[in-house]
Amino acid sequence: MTDPHSGGAVVPPSTIGMLGGGQLGRYALMAARQMGYRTIVLDPDPDAPAGAIADVHLVAPYDDANALDHLASRCDVVTVEFENPSAVSLERLAEHTAVAPSANALAVAQDRRLEKRFLCEQGIPVGPFAVIGAASDLPSADGAVPFPAILKTTAGGYDGKGQLTVCSPGELADAWAELGQVSCVLEQHLDLEREVSVLLARSGSGDVVAYPVTENIHVGGILDVSVVPARVSDAVVVHAVAFATRVAEALEYVGVLAVELFVVEGEVLVNELAPRPHNSGHWTLDAAATDQFAQQIRTVCGLPLGSTLMTAPAAAMANLLGDRWSNAEPDWAAALVDPDVRLHLYGKSRASPGRKMGHLTATGPDVTTALHVVQRARTASETNARAPGAQRARPALRHVDADDATDGVGHGTRPHHDQHLAHDEPGEVAFGPAPDRRSDDASRHSADDE
Ligand code: ADP
Ligand code: MG
Repeated sequence: MTDPHSGGAVVPPSTIGMLGGGQLGRYALMAARQMGYRTIVLDPDPDAPAGAIADVHLVAPYDDANALDHLASRCDVVTVEFENPSAVSLERLAEHTAVAPSANALAVAQDRRLEKRFLCEQGIPVGPFAVIGAASDLPSADGAVPFPAILKTTAGGYDGKGQLTVCSPGELADAWAELGQVSCVLEQHLDLEREVSVLLARSGSGDVVAYPVTENIHVGGILDVSVVPARVSDAVVVHAVAFATRVAEALEYVGVLAVELFVVEGEVLVNELAPRPHNSGHWTLDAAATDQFAQQIRTVCGLPLGSTLMTAPAAAMANLLGDRWSNAEPDWAAALVDPDVRLHLYGKSRASPGRKMGHLTATGPDVTTALHVVQRARTASETNARAPGAQRARPALRHVDADDATDGVGHGTRPHHDQHLAHDEPGEVAFGPAPDRRSDDASRHSADDE
């Protein structure tokens, strides 16, 4: 087998496998297909956004042995769009094909306790925290971390899920019970000056390229808007990029890595790691020489890294959450009135509060202008939204059952194939028991909402 991480590149028309079929996987597979690769995605949800893009969609759980073996035997390299595949799954794949990022990198990023320990070992600053693994840890934790604090499950959380704010020892005990008495970290609630992220790519030969630092504004624990370049001092930029690079080098990381950071009283602290492209890097689709998804394909295939230079002086990205669909369909024509605005929708057939359905990007001469333009576009899409049932040629989104999928991979819209599907044959392959047609993002444990 060609090992793209020790010299021999995986070149088109080889086959790239993707664990996880959310929007991050969808864009990565679009980038792969644009470059002439064949693609296979594994995701238990028949309606997964990447399923409509991949040559083959394996509909099976991420730990399904048959599906993993099928993926390994058909793919020249396999990558991930979220951090939660088990180490066992990745090791099984790695026995027969190249896998990037590594199982170890994912193990660190999928467990806040291991992540904090790793960062501390590297001498990278993090905010005050304590680990709670048992009830007996509660008294020492509330001694070590000042209130108010945030209790976070060590595994499985995203978009602020699995987190509770606590203000007293009593609330801490209640919160730990509410989270199911699972392993948690308690973090001091910091007074954030800014949140930023560093997106970088590291090749198997150790080359690292970083994108300009991005500034992120969260609402209710979910990313709302990102602007680039971040409005921070040069010193913050230098520290942020240095910490992210140190993380990538210490993990011998191969792929695209996002590092989320806090700026507190001028100091830079690492919040968490995402071993994959990231929501805060979506602006690269419209304002960077190489977007983060094309970069991911380059790194995992052992190709030279692309330029991370911006193609506009500034860019802003605004997320479109499912809440915006609650009363009426957004008016995309109104959103696109400004020629510097671009629309991205992920092809999800069901909107729900907090679910990431798409985003808007604006470029501009400076951050203030780009931010203003993208927010005005998002507001226009709501202000001019049509009431449900109003005349429209084709609804942008219908509130439908998963069975009524419109994206081409639902029941009856594509042929079902057996496990002996030809290598390049498009379609959907079901393994094992009929999949639970979950369309709830949380149940996917994927990066659907990162
Ligand atoms: P997730 O995995 O859900 O992204 P994060 O730890 O990044 O989890 O938390 C989500 C958001 O919540 C952060 O981007 C930040 O806005 C806020 N947040 C998290 N931890 C803290 C903290 N210790 N102090 C202040 N705000 C925080
Ligand atoms: Mg986060």
